Amino acid sequence: MNSSRHFSSCVAEYDPNALPVSAAQEIVRQWALPRGRAEVERVRLFDALDRVLAEDVVSPINVPSHDNSAMDGYAFDGVALEEAGREGQVELKVAGKALAGQPFAGVALSAQCVRIMTGALIPPGCDTIVPQELVQRTGDTITFGTAGIRRGVNRRLAGEDLAQGQPALRAGRIVRASDIGLLASLGIAEIAVRRRLRVAFFSTGDELRAVGEALPPGSIYDSNRYTLYATLRRMNVEPVDLGIVRDDRASLEQALRRATREADVVISSGGVSVGDADFTRDLMNTLGDVAFWKIAMRPGRPLAFGRLWSGARPGDGESALFFGLPGNPVAVMATFYFIVREALLAMSGATAHALPLISATSTNPLSKRAGRTEFQRGIAQRDNAGRWHVVTTGPQGSGVLSSMSEANCFIVLRHEAGNIDAGDSVDILPFDGLI
Ligand code: AMP
Ligand code: MG
Repeated sequence: MNSSRHFSSCVAEYDPNALPVSAAQEIVRQWALPRGRAEVERVRLFDALDRVLAEDVVSPINVPSHDNSAMDGYAFDGVALEEAGREGQVELKVAGKALAGQPFAGVALSAQCVRIMTGALIPPGCDTIVPQELVQRTGDTITFGTAGIRRGVNRRLAGEDLAQGQPALRAGRIVRASDIGLLASLGIAEIAVRRRLRVAFFSTGDELRAVGEALPPGSIYDSNRYTLYATLRRMNVEPVDLGIVRDDRASLEQALRRATREADVVISSGGVSVGDADFTRDLMNTLGDVAFWKIAMRPGRPLAFGRLWSGARPGDGESALFFGLPGNPVAVMATFYFIVREALLAMSGATAHALPLISATSTNPLSKRAGRTEFQRGIAQRDNAGRWHVVTTGPQGSGVLSSMSEANCFIVLRHEAGNIDAGDSVDILPFDGLI
């Protein structure tokens, strides 16, 4: 990826002063490649949650391992159904019982059946289960009608869930609770996962104070670092907190070099707006191949993106992907969600899925300018008929952090869309734990 020309040329196709969100996402996608396969570690199942599978998991066994019953009832040889004919009656003698974990020891002969419970092995000589509620039992004899029951029913076949030798889970999957259960059902105690992505992050700004410090007039508490930390934790990457960095070239250079050495991805907030200290741009050119974008999105217009190097000149030493996010707290979250998130997934080796947008009716009119994508904050609710409605959280200034806490979704207003009338349909993206 040591190709400045590559980056410059793929950005050159667009106007960096009005880069559509979809174009920014596409460029980031081209740059955010998974790290090498070498960085794999083995973890126990209990530690596997949210890790990215490094290789396909092939099932070592059939699941279920043997044919077994899907019902509480009686197992018998289905030939009896054919002999009795449609609308006929079958009469069988109960020869014994089969429980889950306690198979029937004998063989069922014709005219015999075996009392069987769900999950029990189907005894030799049987291939069909009649559910108990369809049966009349008198002593050791059962009778039932053949109507509504076919040969081979209520039987789970060996390998029906997972066949031995078939991939049970694919490389790139983010391991979920259900997957951990599935792996356990295969008797697998450990899996190969990719090393967690290391993401260094810091805040820039002379006005920023750390939580716990006094707040002199004109200063504000640094909230972005806390939001970023929490969001990164949710993504199960390894966060590397580099603190608050002052608005001067030497401090910034030091922070960026250190971050590039220590992490796969560097995320900063603040200092990328127009007119913001020119040393930022200047420095980026010294350290790497970074473009300054004005993305046609709100919030989140200014953003820097590219690759940094820890060595004396670009191409030397360690490299890291860099996201210079805007300073405004809401913009940080919007740009993280829509620009950074997918890159982190891709670099982690995870198969990324499109964000699940839902269509909802806007309760309010929303002012929206055509020619940019807007991510407004909303509160979505489902009505009794199952339709989604969304109410705006009110003022959409990108510094209004409380709007983010109050909201439960983004209202995603498309690039081309103009003002929205009350009653119009809009897309919403429910916060799924990342915000
Ligand atoms: P900047 O992009 O550096 O010009 O910052 C834009 C706005 O966001 C300014 O009002 C900053 O004070 C504010 N801001 C920048 N960084 C942070 C931060 N880490 N936490 C809270 N607010 C911030
Ligand atoms: Mg600043």
